[in-house]
Amino acid sequence: MANIILKNASKHFESVKAIDQVNFEVKDGEFMVLVGPSGCGKSTLLRSIAGLEEITSGQILIDDQDVTSLHSSKRDLAMVFQSYALYPHMNVHKNLSFGLETMKIPKNVIDERVQKAAQVLQIDQLLKRKPKQLSGGQKQRVAIGRAIVREPKAFLFDEPLSNLDADLRVQMRVEIARLQKRLGVTTIYVTHDQVEAMTMADRIVVLNGGRVEQIGKPLELYNSPNNVFVAGFIGSPRINLLPLRDLIELRQNQHATISDSILKLMEKANVHQLGFRPEMIRFNTEGIANSLTLNTEVSYMEQLGSEAYIYLEIENKLNLVMHNQGQEHFESKSKLPSCIDLGLCHLFDQNGKQISIESF
Ligand code: ADP
Ligand code: MG
Repeated sequence: MANIILKNASKHFESVKAIDQVNFEVKDGEFMVLVGPSGCGKSTLLRSIAGLEEITSGQILIDDQDVTSLHSSKRDLAMVFQSYALYPHMNVHKNLSFGLETMKIPKNVIDERVQKAAQVLQIDQLLKRKPKQLSGGQKQRVAIGRAIVREPKAFLFDEPLSNLDADLRVQMRVEIARLQKRLGVTTIYVTHDQVEAMTMADRIVVLNGGRVEQIGKPLELYNSPNNVFVAGFIGSPRINLLPLRDLIELRQNQHATISDSILKLMEKANVHQLGFRPEMIRFNTEGIANSLTLNTEVSYMEQLGSEAYIYLEIENKLNLVMHNQGQEHFESKSKLPSCIDLGLCHLFDQNGKQISIESF
């Protein structure tokens, strides 16, 4: 087990800054998720930590030892890929044991580790099968098993669930998170899926264009995003964003109610847009000190059983999504005002940076 530290790590492919001045520390035993849109540098970062890419500048430390120029085989990390990368001609047992045999580990130790990993992953009935006789989920378990038997300092996962269907993805995400807690091995897990990040991580690094946007616990990112990128990337359905300019226009057309003084404060603070999550929209202003009311009507709703997403609009000028508990039904076109507690709103400046107003 180990901690992993990145200091000003950059990786350039000619003119492309795949990763750009990245700093973070993964603590011993921590489950760290790297999340961001496709092409933001997640795989490059993970491959750099693994030693499969050489960084252009900066430092990588594992267990406080500088490994920046250490060969990948000496870093003692185990990587699991999206494409399971199993040996097709070997059975499951051999797939699990092969790497250890090449490391000249005694046979009795290998057998013990393979049995133990197979039990943990519930693939002990499959040890004689070849990869082609396994389902996608079983193949992914074998790939994880191959990482476990090596007893590495840390696990590195690169989008390991992307090839699985939706149900299995949910099941495997719980299994991997549970397994990591049970083994207590430092883990860096890459995904573009913010739900995976939110549900699995101890902490999350949000990446965008090779740079770190924010690092924090899942709920810290959800409740206190540093900027509009993080606010928009974390949370599903997405946070509602309302430009202040549009709010002023809606108010002029009697579609919005907000106090003069609050509006002035926001203008003075250079608020560019307001963000409020779907569950922050309410039906009435009861108990709200500083409210914003929008004269929205229902465009359509998605009823999921215990909760519903209600899509709201104002004359094609504004589209919002509301998260409502329960099974109450609202007809299309029915008037349903959106009431928002401005004290809970996220405010962003022109550059998308979060700003706070004291008196809110
Ligand atoms: P992600 O895994 O987040 O989708 P990648 O790390 O694969 O992103 O890629 C980050 C950026 O670096 C992309 O713009 C990609 O095109 C570029 N890139 C990745 N690998 C190479 C390479 N070997 N040569 C040139 N550019 C690359
Ligand atoms: Mg990738």
